[in-house]
Order: sequence, then C-alpha cells, then structure tokens
Amino acid sequence: MTNKTETGLDAMAGDGGYEEAYLGDYLRSKMKRDNKRFWAGDNISEYLEEGFKERLIDEATEAFETVLDRLLIDRETDPNSHGTARRLAKMYFNEIMGGRYDPAPDATCFPNDSADRYEGMLVVRSELRSMCSHHHQPVNGVAYIGIIAAQKLIGLSKYTRIAQWCARRGTLQEELANDIAREIERATGAKDLGVYIQATHGCCENRGIMAHSSLTQTTVLRGAFKDDMGTKKEFFDNIKMQQEFAPR
Ligand SMILES: [Zn+2]
Repeated sequence: MTNKTETGLDAMAGDGGYEEAYLGDYLRSKMKRDNKRFWAGDNISEYLEEGFKERLIDEATEAFETVLDRLLIDRETDPNSHGTARRLAKMYFNEIMGGRYDPAPDATCFPNDSADRYEGMLVVRSELRSMCSHHHQPVNGVAYIGIIAAQKLIGLSKYTRIAQWCARRGTLQEELANDIAREIERATGAKDLGVYIQATHGCCENRGIMAHSSLTQTTVLRGAFKDDMGTKKEFFDNIKMQQEFAPR
C-alpha cells in the first residue's frame, strides 16, 4: 500500500495495493475503504475532482462498446450505432444520472425571521424525470413539495432544482420521496414538510406487465404534516387545487 496519492491521478493504488488501470476502479476502491455507499441513488460528487468526469465518460464509452459487441450489434458499419457507446456514456454521466455526479444545487437562503415573516404553507409543483434502478427505464412524474416556512426561505425554483437533482439518478420512487424530503429539510431547515410524488414507470409500461398505465403515488410526511390533521388536509387540498389548475 505505497504510493497512494489523494488525487489518485498519478499513482492509483487499489485495495490490494496494485495499480488500477481505470479511474473508475480506483474510485470504487476508495469509496469502499471509506465505507462510502455508492448505490445508484447516492450522490458521489465529493469523489469527483476536476477532469475526472471526462475520464470516467471515456472509460464508460469503452464499456458500452463491449456491451454493444456482446449484443451482436455492428457498431462499425451500422451508421446509427456508430458513436452510440459514447452517447450512452455522456447521457448517463451528464443527464439521466447527473444527480449522482454533480454537487447539490446552490440554494441561497433568504431570512424569514422579521416581524412580517411568512408563516403559511408553501406548495411547489416540480416536474421530475428519473430512472428506475432495477431496469434503467424512465420514470416520469411530478412532485408536490410542501413546507411550513422556518427561519429561512429558498427561491421557488430551488425546490425543483433540488428535486431534479435527487431524481436524476437510479431511484425507486419510495426512496426518491425520502431523498427529496431530506434535501428540502437540509436546504430550508423546515421540520414540517410533505412530499407527494405521482409518476409513471417505463419498467411497467415498456416491458414486463406492459401496463397501459403505471401511475404510482408516494407520500412522505414529517412534523405537522404527519401529526396535525388540519395541516395534512391543507397540503392535499393544495395539491388538488394545483392538479385542477395544471392537470397532468
Ligand atoms: Zn424497473
């Protein structure tokens, strides 16, 4: 176990002390040593230094080329499959799983502690695109995020940015609702909050049971949203009003 550097760019020593040929292998070893969980829905941005993403995209391109070869797709003469491996690698890192590799969106706080502070409920509708971690099929839906404002507020668009950052990973809808609740609590300090998600699932519609509709709802309620019937009812009434105004 010699020659280990913190950046890992020069000497990449893995668990066994051997040089890792791939940056991805080096990072996996490092996260294991750190007991850092790196499931499909986890953010690992703290491990990505300047330039790492480009190298990981190169490595994933190579791996996707192997997958296409194993699927017996002629990526050399089929013009539509030429470059597909790189397109897939870039799409995973920058788009459909971008929330794993990018740090949390900057959510500037505004104080909400003056005499005329806002004490009501705030309900924001956020459109989501996600991907199930079982089949890597699309999950399309909308999250309604409700809070009773605490000592600080964030800009309205930040709720959606945070929700999308959580969604752009491999997720389960149940996990996603928890993740959004946790990150909204972290950003706003609000202890009273609710997250309601309605989404359709490609893994039920495009394969398997080939369901015509796979609409699924999940709810996470905390604080007054959970314990106070009036607050809970107000949250769901707000959602109904939003749905009437902007039907899916
Ligand atoms: Zn699935």
